[in-house]
Order: sequence, then C-alpha cells, then structure tokens
Amino acid sequence: MDMPKVNECDVQECCYNQNKLCHALAITVGDSVDPCCDTFTTACSSKGGNSGSIGAVGACKVSICRYNMKLECQADGIIVGRTEHAADCLTFEPS
Ligand code: SF4
Ligand code: SF4
Repeated sequence: MDMPKVNECDVQECCYNQNKLCHALAITVGDSVDPCCDTFTTACSSKGGNSGSIGAVGACKVSICRYNMKLECQADGIIVGRTEHAADCLTFEPS
C-alpha cells in the first residue's frame, strides 16, 4: 500500500516545510498517546528534504488512533498543524 501523504502542514519553521508542504520522504508520528510529528526539527541552516516530493507517513506509534493498524497509518492522507506541541497530526481521532 502507498504511504498516506501529508496533505498540508502549517508548521513553517520546520526544516522540512516549504510553502505549507512537508518534503521529508517519510515522517514518524507520535509516541504512545500524543500524535506529535516526531520528525519535526528546526535544527538546520537551510531547508531539508526533497523539494520534488511530498512527505508521507512512514510510521505512526499512536495505536489509540482509529486510523492506526499495527502501528501504521491507514488514513487516505493527514494534515499536520500547530497545537500545544510543536506539530501534531490533526487527522488523529481516538478509536
Ligand atoms: S509534517 Fe512534520 S516533518 Fe513535515 S513539515 Fe510538518 S512538522 Fe515538519
Ligand atoms: S491519522 Fe492517526 S494513525 Fe494516521 S498519522 Fe495521524 S495519529 Fe497516526
């Protein structure tokens, strides 16, 4: 199956973000309870990732999400945005 795309991310200070799109090839989401973007980083002097591709969810550790099956995301795509953490998966829904 194809990895779900990150359809939008408004955390523009992240090194992988250009014009509200994620350009990491694959992100990791979450710890056991919080759907934070684990790939988020500001530790760069210039933008990283592959500007020719859109990021996708490589793995997700939030097993309590309704879209999570065997620690992989089964959503059609996700949206990432700013919350009390630096960046969270806003598509998260508790099961
Ligand atoms: S989805 Fe995560 S890694 Fe990608 S741009 Fe947003 S915060 Fe950065
Ligand atoms: S929608 Fe759910 S399973 Fe998919 S990345 Fe977000 S928290 Fe993880």
